[in-house]
Amino acid sequence: MFSTVNDSEGAGTGSGGSDPEMSNAIPPISFFIVAVVVFQSPTMSLTPAIAAVARVAHLTSDVVVESESAFSEYWKSGPSSSAHSPSVISLPRGADAASPLLREQAASLLSYTTTSSQALTRLLPHLAELSARPVVLHIAVENDLSDALIIRSAVPYFLYSSTAQQAHDTALLASRLARSQRKAVVHVFHVGDANETVEEIAEDRVQPFLLAEKVGTPKNISRPATPDSNGANGHAVLTPPLSPLSPSSSISLDPVTDELLKAYEAAALSTLALVRRPQHPCSRKGSASPQMAVVTLGRANFDFEIDDVSFVNVSLVSPFPTPRLLKAIPSSVTRVIVLEQLSKWSMKWTPIFLDVITALQSRDPENRPIVHSATFGDTSALHSEDVSIFLQKAALASPATRLHLGPAISPHASAPEAPHVPKHEASYTKILSHLFGERIEIANAPSLVPTQGEVATSPEFALGRIRGDLELREELIDAVQELLQEAELSPELHSLLSRWILAKDDGVKSWELGDQIVLSLESSSVSHPAAARVLSLRWLFSALSRWIIGSDAWSYDLGASGLHHAIASGLNVNILILDTLPYSTRNATDENRRKRDVGLYAMNHGDVYVASIAVYSSYAQVLQSLIEADKFNGPSVVLAYLPYKNEDSPALDLLKETKLAVDSGYWPLYRWDPSKEAEGKEPFSLDSDAVKNDLQAFLDRQNHLSQLTRSKPQFAADLVSSLGESVKEARKKRALQAYEELLTGIDAPPLTILFASDGGAAEKKAKRLNGRAKARGLTTTLATLDSVSLDALAQEEYVVFITSTAGQGEPPQNGRTFFKALNAAVAAGNQGLINLKYSVFAMGDSHYWPRPEDAHYYNKPGKDLDARLARLGGQRVADLGLGDDQDADGSETGYKVWEPLIWKVLGVDTIQVHEVEPDPITNEHIKVASQYLRGTISEGLEDFSTGALAPSDTQLTKFHGIYQQDDRDIRDERQAQGVEPAFGFMIRVRLPGGVCTPQQWLTIDQIADEHGSSNFKLTTRSTFQFHGVIKRHLKPAIQSINRALLDTLAACGDVNRNVIVSAIPSMSKLHAQVHEFAKNVSEHLLPRTSAYHEIWLDKKMVAGGAVQDFEPLYGEFYLPRKFKIAVAVPPTNDVDLFANDVGFIAILDEHGELAGFNVTAGGGMGVTHSNKKTYPRLGSLLGFVTVDQGKAVAEKIMLVQRDNGNRADRKNARLKYTIDRMGLDVFKAEVEKLLGWEFPPARPFTFDRNVDDFGWHTGEDGKHHFTCFIENGRIQDEPDRNFKTCLKEIAKIHKGEFRLTANQHIVISGIATEDLPDIKHLLAKYKLDNLNFSGLRLSSSACVAFPTCGLAMAESERYLPLLVDKLEKICEENGLRNDSIVMRMTGCPNGCARPYVAEIAFVGKAPGSYLMLLGGGYHGQRLNKIYRESVTEPEILAILKPMIKHYALERLEGEHFGDFVIRTGYIAPTTSGAEYYDRMGGEGQHREIAI
Ligand code: SF4
Repeated sequence: MFSTVNDSEGAGTGSGGSDPEMSNAIPPISFFIVAVVVFQSPTMSLTPAIAAVARVAHLTSDVVVESESAFSEYWKSGPSSSAHSPSVISLPRGADAASPLLREQAASLLSYTTTSSQALTRLLPHLAELSARPVVLHIAVENDLSDALIIRSAVPYFLYSSTAQQAHDTALLASRLARSQRKAVVHVFHVGDANETVEEIAEDRVQPFLLAEKVGTPKNISRPATPDSNGANGHAVLTPPLSPLSPSSSISLDPVTDELLKAYEAAALSTLALVRRPQHPCSRKGSASPQMAVVTLGRANFDFEIDDVSFVNVSLVSPFPTPRLLKAIPSSVTRVIVLEQLSKWSMKWTPIFLDVITALQSRDPENRPIVHSATFGDTSALHSEDVSIFLQKAALASPATRLHLGPAISPHASAPEAPHVPKHEASYTKILSHLFGERIEIANAPSLVPTQGEVATSPEFALGRIRGDLELREELIDAVQELLQEAELSPELHSLLSRWILAKDDGVKSWELGDQIVLSLESSSVSHPAAARVLSLRWLFSALSRWIIGSDAWSYDLGASGLHHAIASGLNVNILILDTLPYSTRNATDENRRKRDVGLYAMNHGDVYVASIAVYSSYAQVLQSLIEADKFNGPSVVLAYLPYKNEDSPALDLLKETKLAVDSGYWPLYRWDPSKEAEGKEPFSLDSDAVKNDLQAFLDRQNHLSQLTRSKPQFAADLVSSLGESVKEARKKRALQAYEELLTGIDAPPLTILFASDGGAAEKKAKRLNGRAKARGLTTTLATLDSVSLDALAQEEYVVFITSTAGQGEPPQNGRTFFKALNAAVAAGNQGLINLKYSVFAMGDSHYWPRPEDAHYYNKPGKDLDARLARLGGQRVADLGLGDDQDADGSETGYKVWEPLIWKVLGVDTIQVHEVEPDPITNEHIKVASQYLRGTISEGLEDFSTGALAPSDTQLTKFHGIYQQDDRDIRDERQAQGVEPAFGFMIRVRLPGGVCTPQQWLTIDQIADEHGSSNFKLTTRSTFQFHGVIKRHLKPAIQSINRALLDTLAACGDVNRNVIVSAIPSMSKLHAQVHEFAKNVSEHLLPRTSAYHEIWLDKKMVAGGAVQDFEPLYGEFYLPRKFKIAVAVPPTNDVDLFANDVGFIAILDEHGELAGFNVTAGGGMGVTHSNKKTYPRLGSLLGFVTVDQGKAVAEKIMLVQRDNGNRADRKNARLKYTIDRMGLDVFKAEVEKLLGWEFPPARPFTFDRNVDDFGWHTGEDGKHHFTCFIENGRIQDEPDRNFKTCLKEIAKIHKGEFRLTANQHIVISGIATEDLPDIKHLLAKYKLDNLNFSGLRLSSSACVAFPTCGLAMAESERYLPLLVDKLEKICEENGLRNDSIVMRMTGCPNGCARPYVAEIAFVGKAPGSYLMLLGGGYHGQRLNKIYRESVTEPEILAILKPMIKHYALERLEGEHFGDFVIRTGYIAPTTSGAEYYDRMGGEGQHREIAI
């Protein structure tokens, strides 16, 4: 037997003696190691080698990146007892690892595993970037190193291990080397077999090994004993040690290689010291004076000996250990066989063959051995005889012949897999397919990989393909032109060819003409050679839209990634680069290794179209940009934002991340079209409001921003920096003012009052305390918590804090930054507030969280604040005050005890204060002082220093149909940036009866694009609502609405709002009558102030400036609260009539004509959580009225409410409370008194549903109506659901009308039979005719809530569809797919989507937490009841799953869900609003435990 003996070269000179010196340990530095473990075969299992390497990667890395593979088994469990646990990033099988590897730089440790060897080729363009980082790529291979060796020259170090033990040791060496040199190390190891054993290093020794600065010099390390040190069979088995590599080495190396090798030696020495096994760059065994040397790379398994032959195994492949190799090949050798484990190698020279040749060049030519190149595959079944025969053959063969040892392996045994395309990317690829259809060509489509190989996804490959195609197309053009000279051509063919030449760049026409030319040529007998050429190039007739799609990883190194070549090519190519880095994690990336701004880079080229887009911000801008890029004749670069952390990231997260990025200017939306310059137009279009500094600098340089600012001065004010400056300036001013006031104050100690408040209650208390403090002669400062820093607080002496409680026991919005700073200071053990004397008053509701386990949320922010101030050294001068909404006097009960303590501490408790405190300013004051709804709105609109209006004006604009809001998604981020919230306005149109003409629809659509957020909402009051209209767009938007003969007056505010009517698609005549009635009532109850026209429509001031408006119905106080009217036509109650202040139920006479209405009064939805003085109520029947009497009845009911409503408490001001307070009879008598007659009794009527009648209906007049399903009323274009475009296209040809339903859907109404095909075609084209939804979805509705509604406590419109996805599965499982169950959701208890009459409802309490209601009447005839006080999604599913099953199994014939849950004892019925809270919390066994 051929004994295996390690030679003593290099680092192996040591003994198994004492531990080497590990002194001078250095503290951990910020570094990370990336261990990439790649498997050759998807079927590979977890062998000892893989497990050992994985363990080392685990113990040495901070972050592990791994792909779904056999290796996942390891990463899922990891070393169970390990104290070190890296963060593991899992990628789907075949996913591109470049982005996570490049991105995870700030992490301290990283690993990546995959079963696809193709990952390596995909990493190729990024290796230049990766190679300068402390990264280890562990690559497991079977019997072919071809793929792995491709990357050899792209990395500083390339190591190979052939056994499991070697793999374990080399993994450690690689980690140490990468860390010490901060360079990439590739470690390729054989996957091994299941029987191998590995002696693993103890975990506690790994970190010291990694962190130790150095070990002793080689002379301190004695060489370990080797088992067969005496050799055998006459061979000398212990070759003399090779001398250490040094500058004095006889072989001259370039300095870089020399340094790399020295570093390797040092790391190998350290590893030897750790594992007590030598680490060789190459090792030799066999004859000491051989004639033949076999240099092997791979798992050769030559466990035998052959006379006169020595085997040299290479472990360090790069940098190639030339000196050691030369020592391993003694001068006796006359022939060298370089044997490499390669199966798919297609190049002429094998990887280390040239290195060996080069190394031997240093020998005297006389003594240079002959070198052969040879390959091998799996040698496990080979015997020594086979090898001997092979070597004999090799000895005789010509050096030019490449030899192969063992059975031949098919070079194409396995086709590469197509790489994985993350599902979120479909957001863009679908749009491309949709826009360009068959014209699109993705030049680097993943589907090309199985046939073209890995390289098919690279930009260079794609560019080459495109260049080739374009050149061939030029040939086609030449051939066509040549053919046009042919006299024999038929006039038709000549015409087709000429037209194609003119239209060759037109995507559609070039395609059509090309087809016709081919047909014509094939059927003609043109013999000109150009005809044959044209036919052979027929596939190039169409002007394709050619795209290359890539990831942001390309941006790290523009040159190496090939992006530069594409940009500089001048070719008509479109490049779409997807940037997936979430805004919120951007700071975690290494600032020093920033991605290049490809947009700026491309713009600087001058002749490249550039666009920056974000599908979750502006779909319209995405479409526009992609179309422009396609049209641009030259390179186009489109940067597309798609922020997601992993494939499971919900779309809502992408939406929020996008918003943050766009709003902050991190991801500006813009288009740069150099072709416009030639037309004298501005090439740059800014499509979002903020730009980054570097983009701004570019624009400044190019003088474009100044031009832009000149043409649109408003842009200047919107730049993030300047906006921030103005706010900072204002703060500075306020600080100065406070300081001056302090100086002029009296001797008493100054007092700082800080508050955090969402709803205004804590702010009100703080302001009142401030007034009282001043009255006692104190100098005070009043501010929000977030406006002070901890440093500033440390300078204060007396500070009192008042804070309310938000959401799940969180601080209010304007205190969150302060809380974060406070927590950080506590965590750091700071004691910086030792001079502070403080007291805290906390406000909350002890019943808000009824479950015992949630009790700690009560007043949590105040309690936390109090405790943390103490931990920072603050002196509590008065005990924490607790205000509880449940106390007799609400929070005042606790406050009255707390406030005197403060006066006492400050020594002003004996001062008598006689001044009457001014009444707080209420809405009533604002209304009366407003000069009939004017206030200072006009002045506020002119003030561009802020995006907001004055607080009192925001109350008044509601009467004009306008709500000031701010984007809740980015509120915190803006606060952190020191800029004011992203104010935007909601505009609601007044649309009596919910009917509009097609022309009006087109105007609404256009307004959304020009002034809003490119979409609009159909509301639960059958009207249009725009969101995100910024202040300077308000007036133009209102004027556009007015030009469409619509207005927004009284769409909100304390007046009668939009009057709604049943949509009744099949009853055209009746609909016309009730619609007319609704319009009359609406007009009759409109405010008469001319302020609306004056402010928004620039109509003249009344009487030349002196306000002399008169409100005959409202007076100057208007109504105490909002007032809503609905008209229903039985049997449909689609307007939820009983939820309105006034309801008119249409009653027909015996001829089917409208006879009049039953009137109801006192319905209303809004409540306040935990305030049982507030409740929903259904309208009470008053009696019957004729159509002519209806208007007066509505008016008189409104007047009784005007005069009797509670103006002191807005929470108790709606008509429903007035009626319950007065008593229905007294109220009715008051109305009758004003009318001068008594109500006749109500007439019989029947309702059977409150959901819409979807689909086609034909009216009595023969006209057709289609009710579309618009989920939650949002009209927008989305991938695959371009409903906005669809309705716009329909509006262009429709001759009837649109009816908006109060369930937020739309009826395309009054379609003549002859127009049906066109409308049906458009509905089908855009899939708006699809009604194949579950009954649950069709019956669901949600209010807007986040991000625009300022009152939202939880998601609603964005979340309900996701919840329905889950619940409809439960329905389907129980055979209830088509059963209608009315389910509604709102983001707060105001109840805009009328949740209190739904069979199942969810009302937001805090993010992710809802009140759950059950038992509403299917046709809106019964209120539901609280079933659970607080549920999250898992709880909702857990509750509803058995309940729905129970319903499916035991419902009675025709029994609705709301009735069922009452009959079967889940919940008690609600019989009146005043009894709403009785028996809440479920019945019997279904009762909530905590109640
Ligand atoms: S119910 Fe509440 S959260 Fe929803 S839109 Fe109305 S006010 Fe906003």
